[in-house]
Amino acid sequence: DRTPFIAGNWKMNMDHVQGITLLQKLAWTLSDAKHDYSRVEVAAFPPFTDLRGVQTLVQGDDLHIAYGGQDLSQFDSGAYTGDISGQFLNKLGCKYVLVGHSERRTIHNESDEVLNAKVKAAFRHGVVPVLCVGEGLEIRQAGTHVDHTLQQLRAGVAGLTNEQAAELVVAYEPVWAIGTGEVAGPEDAQEMCAAIRSELETLFGADVAAKTRLLYGGSVKGNNAGAILRERDVDGVLVGGASLDPAEFANIVRFES
Ligand code: 13P
Repeated sequence: DRTPFIAGNWKMNMDHVQGITLLQKLAWTLSDAKHDYSRVEVAAFPPFTDLRGVQTLVQGDDLHIAYGGQDLSQFDSGAYTGDISGQFLNKLGCKYVLVGHSERRTIHNESDEVLNAKVKAAFRHGVVPVLCVGEGLEIRQAGTHVDHTLQQLRAGVAGLTNEQAAELVVAYEPVWAIGTGEVAGPEDAQEMCAAIRSELETLFGADVAAKTRLLYGGSVKGNNAGAILRERDVDGVLVGGASLDPAEFANIVRFES
């Protein structure tokens, strides 16, 4: 039972006031559209500074919108200036946390080893990691994108229990399709998601692999989401730019309702 998952990664956009407005508009738009939240899970990944406000809004108005951080520390607490512990995210009601977004891997040099520690830290604190994987343009052009992405996957999930692997969400985000308007074709998304599911089956067994939700991310918009979401192994999308426009994001959510 892989409930479709439509997630918005706000990246470093929306201060805490703008974030509340965005979420309110999204909730209104979805309720106007009589969105059935039991059929599609909607999640937002705002900047850390927005999370307390988001919690107050979501809990106060009983909105069925999940939310999470865009990163977490691999450590639990201590002398790690500037970092955010998974236990803080849990306390703020975060259900999810992004781990290993390509912008973290490149700008902050996060290694597969660190990301594996972050995945485990998330589970340790009761937050579900959304592990992001995906190749850059050169690797895509060399034709080794599946190997590359599965290597990131194997490293990221090393040492997880079957239960954790079933709960985990994996987002395939080809770097060349992020923020470029260059969307991978539905068949590219399906190719990689099928490869990821088959790798999970090898690692954790068929029962687990049938439960893990796999997302596609990279220039998803209202006008291309439908075709991507129809693919067999794609269980949802991770949306960047288009998640900052509530009407556009609601259009993406509607493809699954
Ligand atoms: P865009 O949708 O802006 O291409 O970003 C994708 C992304 O990185 C989501 O995490």
